[in-house]
Amino acid sequence: MAAKKKTRPPEKTVPAAPPGNDFRLGEPYAPAPEATDHARIAPAYGLFINGAFVSAASGKRFPTVNPATEATLSEVSEAGPGDVDKAIAAARKAFGPWNRLKASERGKYLFRIARLLQERAREFAVIESMDGGKPIRESRDFDVPQAAAHFFYHGGWADKLAYAFPGRKIAPVGVAGQIIPWNFPLLMAAWKIAPALACGNTVVLKPAESTPLTALKLAELLADAGLPPGVVNIITGAGDTGAALVNHPGIDKIAFTGSTEVGKQIQRAVAATGKRHTLELGGKAAHIIFDDAPVDQAVEGIINGIFFNQGHVCCAGSRLLVQEGVAETIVAKLRRRMENLVLGDPLDKNTDIGAIHSRAQLERIEALVRAGVEEGACIHQSGQTLPAKGYWFRPTIFTETAQSHRINREEIFGPVLSVMTFRTPDEAIEKANNTPYGLSGGVWTDKGAKIFGVTGALRAGVLWANTFNKFDPASPFGGYKESGLGREGGLHGLAAYVNLSR
Ligand code: NAP
Ligand code: MG
Repeated sequence: MAAKKKTRPPEKTVPAAPPGNDFRLGEPYAPAPEATDHARIAPAYGLFINGAFVSAASGKRFPTVNPATEATLSEVSEAGPGDVDKAIAAARKAFGPWNRLKASERGKYLFRIARLLQERAREFAVIESMDGGKPIRESRDFDVPQAAAHFFYHGGWADKLAYAFPGRKIAPVGVAGQIIPWNFPLLMAAWKIAPALACGNTVVLKPAESTPLTALKLAELLADAGLPPGVVNIITGAGDTGAALVNHPGIDKIAFTGSTEVGKQIQRAVAATGKRHTLELGGKAAHIIFDDAPVDQAVEGIINGIFFNQGHVCCAGSRLLVQEGVAETIVAKLRRRMENLVLGDPLDKNTDIGAIHSRAQLERIEALVRAGVEEGACIHQSGQTLPAKGYWFRPTIFTETAQSHRINREEIFGPVLSVMTFRTPDEAIEKANNTPYGLSGGVWTDKGAKIFGVTGALRAGVLWANTFNKFDPASPFGGYKESGLGREGGLHGLAAYVNLSR
């Protein structure tokens, strides 16, 4: 008997994108050289305005690179003032119908977005790790599920705002301009977009120039979710694009997460304009370990507090305050633990420490570490071999540090911990509060009364006890002093997106 002839489906040919073409929704596209089956990355992206990808008026594009390989992943469009204007006009046009939509229907869109994020979690995680350098274990287990959780949480509020703000008349603020940093690109987009939409606002979001890809993937997802055009617009560009958004008269609210320096510029720019604003800025958290703390758990907490996401974390526990009696033990254990961290390929699921986000960030970290050595602190670095390509920094601990050292005063935003000691709770509190920042902090002790006593005296917006870096969409996040103003998450976060009256 003749062998049965195998019938193969005709091979699909993926058309190459013509030069200058944008990746358009729904069209097959030739993948970028770095794309894989798990991460569909187009060679070029337009701006997501009014529900479709369009070219920037100038036609200008810039590359986004993989910091672990230095390879270009894709080219994204640079939005100029005219494009910002177009995006805001689309958001304004969409505002009325979106706001008038039945609140439970708005909620359904948020639930749908959350579910699609879960379905596409793998692709989002892979792209997040490729574009930003963070370990896949973190993007898979933290960034993407947390982003979905924010959409679920806020989907639940959409038709319950009357319970959130009882006895008040509630109106959305209008068109929100949202600007986010590169350390948690998808998650920061979710933190911003979800509460805005739940309260009936429309959005123009600008991701950081070095990590635009998951925001653009989110744009595809929003279109697939059937979100009405213009409700969310995503425009890529650098600082100038952000500034154009901040200064545009068509914006009713600015939500910014980023550096204290840019936060101050934004506050000056919106002064006396009547624009609502929330600012989530830098931090220099104190992580306080008392001698009655469970030592091994505390060591894990300290490691996670400073090395999570290579220390590119605004609430990182970067200043360790250890009570004298346990200082030697804790430092010895930390040094041993630090040696065991796996540094390398962000896409390897065993990796603990991924790539430093960019060459510029690496140079900033190196400069501050040099200053630490020059000012007389004692440096301990782990001995991992660094990959030949890409941007890397060894986990580092400084001991013998003084409060006056730059490494204790300035945000390093890298895998660098500085250790100080204290004798009494009052001394710990004084040292912890001796910073212009006030974002987060942690306390480890066996005594509940000490937890309440110390955390009550710390001037920081987010405090953890016997744990660190725990997040939930229901708990508000934000800082005091130079760490910003306003809160994101929970009821306080919702309040930033509504106008309340009697
Ligand atoms: P950044 O330089 O302030 O940038 C943040 C965002 O603002 C980016 O999208 C950036 O665009 C944009 N931008 C730059 N200049 C601008 C201007 N003049 N007007 C409007 N927008 C402008 O901060 P980063 O270096 O990306 O992020 C690290 C900082 O963010 C750290 O200080 C960290 O502590 C802070 N952070 C705070 C939180 C929080 O919740 N408190 C969370 C995460 C990070 P380009 O990137 O394209 O230049
Ligand atoms: Mg990148």
